[in-house]
Formats: sequence, structure tokens, C-alpha cells
Amino acid sequence: MKEFARDTLCIHAGYKPGNGEPRVMPIVQSTTYTYESSKEMGDLFDLQAEGFFYTRLGNPTLDCVERKIAALEGGVGAMVTSSGQAASLMAVLNICTAGQHMVCSSAIYGGTFNLFYKTLKEMGVEVTFVPATSTLEELRAAMRENTRCVFAETLSNPALVVTDLEVFAQAAHGQGVPLIVDNTFPTPINCRPFEFGADIVVHSTTKYMDGHAVQVGGVIVDSGKFDWGNGKFPALTEPDESYHGVVYTKQFGPAAYLAKARCHLMRDLGAQAAPMNAFLLNLGLETLALRMERHCANAQKVAEYLESDPHIAWVNYPGLESSEYHKLAKKYLPGGSCGVVSFGIKGGREAAQRFMDSLGMASVVTHVADLRTCVLHPASTTHRQLSEKQLQEAGVPADLIRLSVGIENPEDILADLRQAIAKAAG
Ligand SMILES: *Cc1c(COP(=O)(O)O)cnc(C)c1O
Repeated sequence: MKEFARDTLCIHAGYKPGNGEPRVMPIVQSTTYTYESSKEMGDLFDLQAEGFFYTRLGNPTLDCVERKIAALEGGVGAMVTSSGQAASLMAVLNICTAGQHMVCSSAIYGGTFNLFYKTLKEMGVEVTFVPATSTLEELRAAMRENTRCVFAETLSNPALVVTDLEVFAQAAHGQGVPLIVDNTFPTPINCRPFEFGADIVVHSTTKYMDGHAVQVGGVIVDSGKFDWGNGKFPALTEPDESYHGVVYTKQFGPAAYLAKARCHLMRDLGAQAAPMNAFLLNLGLETLALRMERHCANAQKVAEYLESDPHIAWVNYPGLESSEYHKLAKKYLPGGSCGVVSFGIKGGREAAQRFMDSLGMASVVTHVADLRTCVLHPASTTHRQLSEKQLQEAGVPADLIRLSVGIENPEDILADLRQAIAKAAG
């Protein structure tokens, strides 16, 4: 049978009820699962049999959502986590540990930047940050003998930089290491990074995938395409003594990376998603394709309006021809980018403040990619720990307003913006 299109996968992938079973994916709110013999349980512990035994390592509700997301991204498997932060941390730690090095685009989410810049460094992993616009030669120059992965965001939060994924993948593969891509903003509806050479994808499912702002979650997706047998990843190709000598590449083939992430890191770190949250996430995923279409259409209208308003200093949206990233967006995000538009209002920080305070329908929240239009000033909130130089490098100038355009009627969104801009200017 032909593979379903992505909007169909949103609805049908992951869960197929048997005769007389619930039509809707149930919430299995149980820590554990019973077996008739200790032999069966022992085989599960030895990874010799498949099945659930403890929810930290797997749960039927989580499993369904994981299958759906893996199908959407076109990967061999996925693992949901308690947050996007946990997903990014585990995606890296799974293959890059103390004494090793990673290369990372500097146009990334502020929380990921902190995680890599401070916490990973304290854990002994060195990170070299490079501009998202780096050429192949520049990326190659940042590589070291002990580099174990490259990390980037497809479409960065909040700078909306479109990364040239093929260039990043080529640089990573030239070094014999995988490219990990945070695909939170476009979602697999608008971009599948595996089609452009990425090996591992992570998401904060807190954003568009959920879309309703009701759960914090993350996911790691494995393409199954990276060859771990080049000698750089003994943790995957040599026996894991903490798991009765299992060799992940032998036992799990193309899903070795994901198996290790679950059997080793999830076992030890315990950042698993809650079944209830996975259920809520699945509800969000069911309408993801529809919502993304509307988010993108509304954001395009808003961006075009802002560009025509004389009170606005600058607008950045990959769907605008004036955008520096328009060409890359056409290649990587042909169906649309996301609902986030960033812009600066004339009059700098103070005008930005007045604008935010004057909004009626749009709310000021530390959130993005919600179906309700919302707005944030990163330099004084999510990115406030960054120096002026780091802000510049992350593509987040001090006057940047991040507007997350929702799925309300576009005329209502525009009316709210117009009146707030008039007040900010007056
Ligand atoms: C929000 C976000 C994260 C972090 O996710 P949480 O679910 O908040 O932990 C990571 N990457 C991107 C691009 C994000 O927008």
C-alpha cells in the first residue's frame, strides 16, 4: 500500500484498534505490567523479548505517539521525553560524552544554548558554536578529531534563521558524525530534515505538535540511516556491560541509536513523558497539518502588513521576499515555514514595551507556537542571560518582538496589531 500523506498520518498513524477495542487511543495510566512467569519478565529485562514492564522504559500510550511521530518524520522510531530540553540533552549525550566535542549552530533556542554552553561544558563536553550561515569550509574548520555530532535548528527560535541542512549534513558526514536537527518550528508537516541528510531529529512537542499549550514534552526521532560502525561510537558497537553485554548495533540494527537512548539513558535519567501528556500530545497531533496551514497563512498576512506599516523598523519572516532566508525557505520549507514572525518597532525597547502593553487579544506569555496569538520580548525574557554579543550572534537584537501568530480569524489579529502599533507610536 502507498504510504499515507502526512495529514493522514497525523490522524491514523501509531494506533490501530483491534476488534472491540477503543476507537480512541487509551491512556494507560499504569507504572507496570503483569506477566505469568518470571522467565518472561527476565527475557524482557535481557532485551530478548519485546513488551512493557515499567513505564520509565516504555508505556503503550507513549508507544502509540512515538510511532505516529516516527511516521510523520519518516524515521525508524522515536522516543518521547518529559520536555524538549530532555530530548536535546539525551540526543547529544547518547553519542557525545566527557572528553568529546560537538559543533553547534549559534542560531538556536536560548534554553538549548544554556544547556550546551554551560551544563554540557560542566559535564566535560566541549561545544564550538558556529554561525548558522557557515559555509562547508567554515564548518569543516570547526571540526576536531574528537567531534561526535553536529547540532542545528531547521528554523531557529526566535531568529527564524533557515539552516542550510544539506551543508551541515555534508560537513558532519565528512567527519563521520551525525547531524542532529531540532525541527520544532516547521514540524514534520513543513520539513522532514531526514530528506536533507539529518540523522537524528529532536522536537519540543510543547510547541506546534501539541499546539494547545497543555503539556510540556519532547521527542527524539532516529532516521535509522547513520552508520555507527566507523569506530567512533564504541558505546553502540561494543558490549554494554550495564545491559548484560548487549551490542546495540547487532541487536537493534538501524534502530541502535534509539535503543541505546531508551535502554541506557532513559533507564538512568528517567526523563520519560507522562501517559496523560502523551494522550494530550496525540490530540494535538491529530490536527497538526490543519493548524500549520492556518498558522502559515495568517503569519504571511501579518508579515506583509507589518512590512507595509511605516512605524515598523524591520520584519523577518521567511515567507517574505525581503527575507535573507527566503531562498533557503523555498528549498527547505516549500509549503510554509511556521506562524512566528519577528519584527522591530521604531522607537526601540520603549516602543516595544508600549506595543506589548497595548495588545488586546494577543497575550504576553513565555510561550510560542500556540493556537492563540501571543507575543514575547526575548531580550528581556528567554534570552536575558545572553550578552549583547551573544544576542547578536543568536540573531536576536534587543528590539526584537517575537509574535506567534495563532489560528484566529486573520482580520481580528490584524486589527489588534494595528491598534497596538498606533498606541506605541503615539
Ligand atoms: C521550546 C523549545 C525547546 C525546549 O523545549 P521545552 O519543551 O520547553 O523543554 C527546544 N527547542 C526549541 C526550538 C524550542 O522552541
